[in-house]
Amino acid sequence: MKTKTEETTEKGAKIKITKRGEDFSRWYTDVIAAAEMADYAPVKGCMVIRPYGYAIWENFQKVLDKMFKETGHENAYFPLFIPESFLKREENHIEGFSPELAVVTHAGGKKLEENLVVRPTSETIIYDSFSKWIESWRDLPLLLNQWANVVRWEMRTRLFLRTTEFLWQEGHTAHATENEAEEEVLKMLEVYRKFSEEYLALPVIPGRKSENEKFAGALRTYCIEGMMQDKKALQCGTSHNLGQNFAKVFDVKFLDQEGTKQYVWQTSWGVSTRLIGALIMAHGDDNGIIVPPKIAAVQAVIIPIWKSEEEREKVLEAAKKLYEELKDGGIGVRLDERDLRPAWKYFEWERKGVPVRIELGPRDIEKSEAVMVRRDTGEKRNVLQKQLADEVKKELEAIQKNLFDRALKFQKENTFETEDWEEFKKIMAGDGGFVKANWCGETKCELEIKEETKATVRCIPFNEKASGKCIHCDKKAKEKVIFAQAY
Ligand SMILES: [Zn+2]
Repeated sequence: MKTKTEETTEKGAKIKITKRGEDFSRWYTDVIAAAEMADYAPVKGCMVIRPYGYAIWENFQKVLDKMFKETGHENAYFPLFIPESFLKREENHIEGFSPELAVVTHAGGKKLEENLVVRPTSETIIYDSFSKWIESWRDLPLLLNQWANVVRWEMRTRLFLRTTEFLWQEGHTAHATENEAEEEVLKMLEVYRKFSEEYLALPVIPGRKSENEKFAGALRTYCIEGMMQDKKALQCGTSHNLGQNFAKVFDVKFLDQEGTKQYVWQTSWGVSTRLIGALIMAHGDDNGIIVPPKIAAVQAVIIPIWKSEEEREKVLEAAKKLYEELKDGGIGVRLDERDLRPAWKYFEWERKGVPVRIELGPRDIEKSEAVMVRRDTGEKRNVLQKQLADEVKKELEAIQKNLFDRALKFQKENTFETEDWEEFKKIMAGDGGFVKANWCGETKCELEIKEETKATVRCIPFNEKASGKCIHCDKKAKEKVIFAQAY
């Protein structure tokens, strides 16, 4: 008779993952289920983040929180409910967010005097506090971050990429001058670039958003854009220069050194659980997800192999010793002692994208060795047990680098530059990719391009010079931009 775990795992072993080449979108849903990352919830568009997915989010938080604190920010927490009137104060802000708002009209069995909005973002409620906290130039800059959930009533949802409720961090700052605010916005964009490239192993293109794509209520929005394996773009983080727009409607003023009242200059910036989707789509393969070692909840898993009870005892003893050694070496290691066939365990950890697998059987023990297998390349080699901790560390570094190099190569191979509209259309109708092209800078033109090709201006990269005419209309080009179809 089979044990309960065996039954469950047998079911697990049958999990079929659609091939990326067949249907990328189904592949994405399949690998999330197969890796036990997340589930849909009873409320449409909401997401249950399962422990394995949440552990990865916790690692994101640890790294980012440290980076925010190192750049002078403190964490705070503001309420989930925002008076509806607050959102209405900034005209563009409410216009941008109103289709997605969830509004509470009743509470405690009574109709509320004023409707409450479930925060879609927290500019308004935070700046109401800023107006009370900031009095003079000595109170500036005010540098805050909040870890929270937000709700945006999305019509078309996909796990991690677009869900009705999602987790994120939102930074909010106030400064005495426009220059300081701009510096802050670019500094945080750089934090996001570093996080994406060095931790998620995801190369990104930093730049500015077009007027049409910028944040509702911002002067300027900056972003980092990554390429997924289906060649679509994914916005991985945004940083907004809010100018004095919110300061004026929330009356956030300070007394400057000359004793004059002035409005503050503000910024906000955020990344969300969407980045987990980015990680999956940038690195996963037909066998499951691949988690970059620096962000992995489990970096290495030890699978002991035995055939008899006698072997079991001997192998487990050696496996435990190795486990302790790796743990002491600072490696995030798991020992999978479950009473299951090793092959089932291999598949399970492979689906979950654990970077390194260590196999340990009686014959390996005789030779004082273990077998080390890389998730990204499938490469297998024997390693002396006494060198295992060092070798695993080296392998984790190599995997981290390989994932980044692989993704960068893919991004480069699928980035095209053209001045020909027909070629542009052909690329977008075919395999897609990033297209670098000259553009007039007008929203009407951008919307026409979107209508015809589903591609939008993903970002206006720094240090690119426009020349000649717009790729679509005949107007003079103002910017050289990256176009792509996007999530
Ligand atoms: Zn144009």
